Amino acid sequence: MLEVEDLHVEFRTRDGVARVLNGVSYHVAPGETLAVLGESGSGKSVTAQAVMGILDTPPAFVTRGSVRFNGEELLTASPERRRAVRASGVAMIFQDALSALNPVFTVGFQIEEQLRLRRGMTRKEARARAIELLDLVRIPSAAQRVREYPHQFSGGMRQRAMIAMALALDPEVLIADEPTTALDVTVQAQIMDLLRDIQRERSMGLVLITHDLGVVAEVADRIAVMYAGRIVEQADAVSLFRSPGHPYTAALMRSLPRLDSSKHSALETIKGLPPSLLRIPPGCPFHPRCPRAEDVCAVDVPAFVPLGPGRGSACHFAEEVVSG
Ligand code: SF4
Ligand code: MG
Repeated sequence: MLEVEDLHVEFRTRDGVARVLNGVSYHVAPGETLAVLGESGSGKSVTAQAVMGILDTPPAFVTRGSVRFNGEELLTASPERRRAVRASGVAMIFQDALSALNPVFTVGFQIEEQLRLRRGMTRKEARARAIELLDLVRIPSAAQRVREYPHQFSGGMRQRAMIAMALALDPEVLIADEPTTALDVTVQAQIMDLLRDIQRERSMGLVLITHDLGVVAEVADRIAVMYAGRIVEQADAVSLFRSPGHPYTAALMRSLPRLDSSKHSALETIKGLPPSLLRIPPGCPFHPRCPRAEDVCAVDVPAFVPLGPGRGSACHFAEEVVSG
């Protein structure tokens, strides 16, 4: 239903051209959770912004690719058409709920405004629906809290209110950009449970953007791993955890603390830093950090090779990596 294909985005800055996306492709089907995993600066959020059409002003340029929703191309559609499709088809929630909510209006008003503008509801209908939505995201005493301002909500409650707002127009796909990063661990788990339940009840497609492999393990059906503006591995969650097909994915997994291991293994982190997008290394962009790199890696960009149904990896040695 939502298909991103070969997306290229550049930021043309005074210091040069940053190639922030270099051919990103993914799709999400109804009722499916796709996790987009990567370190900050890998292009996860930029991809989402391009999908939402909030990236079409300089210095950002979408130079190539396609974003289709139910078969309709959005990148070349008229602005009105894009707005209409996005308003009812694809919604997004952001990492920082505090800055995404408007502090001068009540939480209820912000939900109701969309319903009045986009659904033609009366004030009374919109209020009733806003209370239902706050109830749905498990905000207690929704009928009272609908009249409160964002600052009267805790961080977790604000994130719930953001989810309610994103659900107001019944999207078919929800993109959640690091929805729990700003929250403490207990609240994170509650928000993830909530998202998963809502997603299942509604058969909604969910694109979950995160740097947290732990979150991914619990909710994702499929995983796309991003590095330096590329998807370096894509697989169903079970296969990816069982046998990663890219050295970067394997390194991310080794950096997870192992709860099931009796030995207290040291937490391995990946040496080095992700590359500056102004100076992406030639060849495989991961080669300066890759424990498996060989001479060819510094010269040739690895193609994305299939490793079985619905899975693939952009590594010269993908087949050897996946078979351990
Ligand atoms: Fe490592 Fe080479 Fe594979 Fe890149 S192509 S991930 S540098 S082995
Ligand atoms: Mg981000």
